[in-house]
Parts: sequence; structure tokens; C-alpha cells
Amino acid sequence: MATMAERTEIERALNTLLRPELFRDYGPNGLQVEGTSQVRHIASGVTASLAFIEAAAAAGADTLLVHHGLFWRGQDGRLTGWLRARVKALLAHDLNLFAYHLPLDAEPEFGNNARFGRRLGLAADTRFGEQDLGFAGPAGPWRDAKALADGARAALGRDVLLVPGDGRALARVAWCTGGAQGYFEAAIAAGADAFLTGEISEPQAHLARETGVAFVACGHHATERFGAPALAAHLAGRFGLEHRFIDVDNPA
Ligand SMILES: [Zn+2]
Repeated sequence: MATMAERTEIERALNTLLRPELFRDYGPNGLQVEGTSQVRHIASGVTASLAFIEAAAAAGADTLLVHHGLFWRGQDGRLTGWLRARVKALLAHDLNLFAYHLPLDAEPEFGNNARFGRRLGLAADTRFGEQDLGFAGPAGPWRDAKALADGARAALGRDVLLVPGDGRALARVAWCTGGAQGYFEAAIAAGADAFLTGEISEPQAHLARETGVAFVACGHHATERFGAPALAAHLAGRFGLEHRFIDVDNPA
């Protein structure tokens, strides 16, 4: 029943939407490992881990679309150990691996930030921070940081960590998915009363207490679960392909 697309068509569609040439990133965006030239079935996921690759192959996918690919700045280029095992599994099943990191965070309709915000009832009316990756907008349904953190718990189905700030009423909320704790000061400068991201490091707890702006750490994986499947579903609809999202649980 499902139809088929050329890999090159999928690649062109992804690059047209995500514009990877506009970003300074930590690794190559786009086709990271070349597999079959014809695409019928996309598996989307957060990370190209061995568990994800094996689950996608078992499900009959021929093409993988992820946020965290295999290759990052600082690697020494050797295909040994865990990296060899992942590449071996991809090649053994003739799988394409598409990975988009910052371009997938930033894309305003299908991206991680857009979809994470939507999940929480938030819509951005402005962007901030390095490469405009931060999203900010009205606080929507959330009157204070405690309500926002409770809402994030419910929306994500997991616990979150709240450093409450000064307990003020929320007018503006900022967010950036994943490991964006370093964007907290830019979020404060952009006028946020609360900031949500995936992770927290030691300095942000002090900053929240000293500036009064609440910080909510919702999980790196948990906040980045929404972009890849939204984008893959869009492609599947456009080209008549099969798609499934495979979520390999990650406590981080
Ligand atoms: Zn990430």
C-alpha cells in the first residue's frame, strides 16, 4: 500500500525545510550514512543509538531520521567500539541515517522547540540567544512557576526539576529543548519570568534564586522527543511513506 520515494528526494525535502547551511553546528547535518536509494518506511527517534537502529531495522524501516546522529566535533574519526557497532548495524541493513541537530531544534513548525512548546500550550512570538535557538512567548495557561512545572510533568509523563525563582506571576516564558541550560541568562535578558530546558547545571540554581526567574529542567531526551516524529510524519504524508516513531527510553 505504501508508496516510495527516492532517497535524494527525501534529502532535498529535508534540507529545504531545515536549511542546515544556516547553522554552525557540532556535527554534520543531513545524510550521515547512506543506505538504500529507495525509501518506503521511515523510523524517527531522538538518538541513533544501537538500540534505536536495531529496533528500526526489526520494524522494517529503511530510513532513520534522528536529532542526535553519530558524528560530533571532537571525535577522532576511528570506527571502533560502540561507533563501529552502530555503523555496522546501519550498513548490514542498508539503512539511511538522516540526522539534524540544531536545524531541527530551530525549525518553526516541526522542530523540537516548536513542538515542545505546543505540547505545553506555549507559542513563541520571539526568538533569542545564540543562533536564535531560544523560543519565548506569553505564559499561556500557566499563572506561576509551580503550575508550569506541574503542567510540564503532566505533558511529558515524567518528573521535572523546578528552581522556583521569586514566585512571581508569569507573563513571559522562554524555552529551549535539550542541553540549553547555558541559554538561561539570555532568556532572562529577553524578559522571561521562567525558562524551561532539558538539563540544569550548578550555576543555574543560583541564577534562578538571585534573579527571581524560575528554571525548569524537564529532561534532555524528554524535551527532544517531538521534532523528529513531527517532521517524519510530514514527509510520510507528503510522499506516501510508512512512518513510526521509536522512543528508546532515556532517563537523562
Ligand atoms: Zn540534544
